[in-house]
Amino acid sequence: MQMLKDKIVREGIVLNDQVLKVDSFLNHRVDPGLMQAIGQAFAAAFAESRIDLVLTLESSGIAPALMAAMALGVPLVFARKQLSLTMRDDLYVEPVYSFTKQQQSQVAVSRKFLTEGQSVLIVDDFLAHGEAAFGMARIVEAAGARVAGIGIVIEKSFQSGRAKLTEAGYRVESLARIASLSGNRVEFVE
Ligand code: 5GP
Repeated sequence: MQMLKDKIVREGIVLNDQVLKVDSFLNHRVDPGLMQAIGQAFAAAFAESRIDLVLTLESSGIAPALMAAMALGVPLVFARKQLSLTMRDDLYVEPVYSFTKQQQSQVAVSRKFLTEGQSVLIVDDFLAHGEAAFGMARIVEAAGARVAGIGIVIEKSFQSGRAKLTEAGYRVESLARIASLSGNRVEFVE
């Protein structure tokens, strides 16, 4: 997606050869026009998949996932990392190791919002080693629903996530694929 790649080149900050900071349009301040285009791109990629629900992980997945849900005309559910007092029972809970925080957390989705037989599109902001995507996929499957695909805004193709997810049989659609962050610059796949 050229608009996204241009934005990454203009505003992305390469923190080191593993981590890209995009807090000016995705992870802190959010660019609504870009998010809308991202949502439309995901909806087009999964138009044939009869999606019933979009699932993401709070908080940075919510903006692109909401726009995808809007474009597909389906609800969005975001998995919670913090369990509140109002969210104690009837949960699907899975451990997810966070690449950026370097710690494991429990992510949870209320059982009432995931139904057996549903076709679910998982969306996330970044794909690194696939921990977040696999965690969400385990939740979908625990509910007896089906992972129709995984939509990623920025994939770091030099890390292991895509290979592991496709090997496990999941369809991964990434809007920007980064081949390398070496030498303080972003190089895209292709
Ligand atoms: P994974 O679970 O695939 O190992 O890592 C993906 C998750 O870690 C994403 O949900 C994202 O929040 C975070 N993440 C991984 N790599 C990066 C990165 O380079 N930049 C930012 N901002 N977040 C990342």
